[in-house]
Amino acid sequence: MSELETRPSNFIRTIIENDLESGKHQAIQTRFPPEPNGYLHIGHAKSICLNFGLALDYPNSACNLRFDDTNPVKEDADYVAAIEKDVTWLGFKWQGDIRYSSNYFEQLFDYAVELIENGKAYVCELNAEQTREYRGTLTSPGKNSPFRDRPIAESLDLFKRMRAGEFEEGTMMLRAKIDMASPNMKMRDPVIYRIRFAHHHQTGDKWCIYPMYDFTHCISDAIEGVTHSLCTLEFEDHRPLYDWVLANITIAAKPRQIEFSRLNLQYTLTSKRKLNALIEDNIVTGWDDPRMPTISGMRRRGYPAASLREFSKRIGVTKQENTVELASLEACVRENLEANGARAMAVIDPIKVIITNYDEDKIEQLTAPVHPKDESMGTRTLPFSRELYIDRADFREEGNKQYKRLKLHKEVRLRNAYVIRADDFKTDAEGNITEVHCTYDAGTLGKNPEDGRKVKGVIHWVSAASNNQAEFRIYDRLFTAENPAAAEDIHSVIYPESLVVKHGFVEKGLVDAKAEVAYQFEREGYFCADSKDSTPEKLVFNRTVALRDSWAG
Ligand code: ATP
Ligand code: MG
Repeated sequence: MSELETRPSNFIRTIIENDLESGKHQAIQTRFPPEPNGYLHIGHAKSICLNFGLALDYPNSACNLRFDDTNPVKEDADYVAAIEKDVTWLGFKWQGDIRYSSNYFEQLFDYAVELIENGKAYVCELNAEQTREYRGTLTSPGKNSPFRDRPIAESLDLFKRMRAGEFEEGTMMLRAKIDMASPNMKMRDPVIYRIRFAHHHQTGDKWCIYPMYDFTHCISDAIEGVTHSLCTLEFEDHRPLYDWVLANITIAAKPRQIEFSRLNLQYTLTSKRKLNALIEDNIVTGWDDPRMPTISGMRRRGYPAASLREFSKRIGVTKQENTVELASLEACVRENLEANGARAMAVIDPIKVIITNYDEDKIEQLTAPVHPKDESMGTRTLPFSRELYIDRADFREEGNKQYKRLKLHKEVRLRNAYVIRADDFKTDAEGNITEVHCTYDAGTLGKNPEDGRKVKGVIHWVSAASNNQAEFRIYDRLFTAENPAAAEDIHSVIYPESLVVKHGFVEKGLVDAKAEVAYQFEREGYFCADSKDSTPEKLVFNRTVALRDSWAG
């Protein structure tokens, strides 16, 4: 079984297995149907892992990638490209070519004509306000449109002339003739085509009428031989319409729509529209800002694809609405990086250490493992010199027993190097420590802990003579509110420290750190080079995730 599969059992899997056992289907066909009106987010990752994962689990089964592109006004070819990249990065392959609902516009038109010919659809000329009025409310039935019983031939003629561009937007629409008194509002003669003089990213200016989602989705599923059409719970009351359309046109396949609960994540927005608003308001820098819960943002932040797959597996698939803890996503990232992330040293808030008994011109090349538990990852070289940097928080003039770092007149071990003792320090006019003077013990290299010294503390360091300067972007959660979607003013729930920029040093070998691949900077957290802004001349590292959940109560 591949790790890409979604093995844990769930109610959808039970339905599928019953369908395979009863012989209703020999194999399954799923699809992932994004609307190209924004970038994919963590919620979509759940749907991707579910749909593609199921197809991997059953013999001869497959999953299509289909762009649900019926609303040209909001869509864009850039989004199409970004979505393809994200699905691929997550590790999945769609069957055959990429599909577009717009590939089926001609067939959809023919099916609409069939409905009209059978007296099951009509051209309606009510305006928007009248249409609303006629629709009724949840507690009162609607009224039939005065156009509902117009002759079939008249509707046919008008529909063809709608297509030919003879009428203005909003003057006419095609509606299914179902039931204006239905308790399900979706069944009250829903609109299935409207006029839009809009350029489409796939079909150009060929069409000026566009089919609605509910008419398009079920037919596209049937055309592609989809067996199980998985969608989120808000589509539950669309299902009767999905089934009605397929029952009233000449089409063999009868896919089954099954709804599951969408992923809601603490401290996170999962709506493309709301994410787009963050960009418009300059709260973040773009769709791939590392604080965005988009797949591209998480990739840039350093989240491994496998950790998102693991997260999707752990949250499972149900019909219950719930909110998943942010900590559980971060735990998946941390576990993955703890096992796979190369170790390195970075000093984020530097102060200088001078080792007074070390030769001024000497630079030793020490070696350290890339990963303490995985020898196959090899070793790395650490230049060691008389002048070093350590973190400001790692030296104190005095400290109690809990403070196991460098104290004046006490010893500490430099990670992967020697034991040093602090003898003296200097301060600036404000009393800030600028320099710590130490002596080192040449006999303590690499002998920890067998060299018999009682040195409890180990701190990290970077040579001041041979290193790389680096900018560190310390990312944290974007919102202070657990449910930011409920906030009246999004600005009032932005966490002001969602990004803190620092400048320091990383070890020499990181000059060519690969973007998006996170290291464990020892004692500091997981970081990766930024894919947009990091260059060998000016390294920029994003904090992927802290070593521990600092928010845990
Ligand atoms: P958004 O509200 O972000 O625009 P959407 O549902 O409109 O989301 P689509 O592009 O239409 O976005 O979604 C593609 C697929 O992803 C659909 O099948 C949808 O149900 C699923 N999906 C979207 N958001 C989530 C989520 N939070 N959890 C699980 N599945 C989701
Ligand atoms: Mg949508």
